[in-house]
Amino acid sequence: MSNNCEDVRAALHHGDMFLCNNDYPKCKADVWKKFRLIKIKATNELLFGWSACKECFACLKFKAKQTDGSVRLYGTKNLADHCKTCSPKGETQSSVASFFKKTPGKHFTREEGKRVKDAEVRMVVQGGTSFMFVDNPGLRLFAQKMIQIGSMYGNLDVNDVLFGRETVKKSTFEKMTECHEKIKKSIAECSLNKMVAFTTDLATDNINHNSYLDFTVF
Ligand SMILES: [Zn+2]
Repeated sequence: MSNNCEDVRAALHHGDMFLCNNDYPKCKADVWKKFRLIKIKATNELLFGWSACKECFACLKFKAKQTDGSVRLYGTKNLADHCKTCSPKGETQSSVASFFKKTPGKHFTREEGKRVKDAEVRMVVQGGTSFMFVDNPGLRLFAQKMIQIGSMYGNLDVNDVLFGRETVKKSTFEKMTECHEKIKKSIAECSLNKMVAFTTDLATDNINHNSYLDFTVF
């Protein structure tokens, strides 16, 4: 078993190990929002005492087994120290996501897996969207919600579940107004203490050449 942080990091990169969500019942410390436990792919067991920063993949030990079999706890201080100085080195969100083990089709027969794949291809082609959309977190959340509803109510007709564009449009505007109000309230609170500054930024997108004016408030 690896006992060196570079070995563990390399194993993560090669996919021999992967990050898993912490379901540590007692772990309420803030560091566990940033650190993930590590599993060994071959055995699907936790790599004892190791954790990795989900942003920069620094691997740190928080406990270790001694030669006499006792467990030595290092605590989470070194993890917390890491959080203060962590600077992901250009590793993108997609490379972070690729560190999480994904096993599409795990529960299916080959034929069912193919049907899911075909449906995704159809969505991209018929929807005229980019391939990136397939990995979009919003889509994944949406699909998970549909699975959840299906698990409760069975194989419903999708037209009895999904709202149409007018309703979604209306709800989007309502949500936007809600967000406006929230932002206004939070700026108003800060401005009471004279702690608000604004900056503007003009941007033009390369495809449609639409120009946007951003306001950054800090
Ligand atoms: Zn980090």
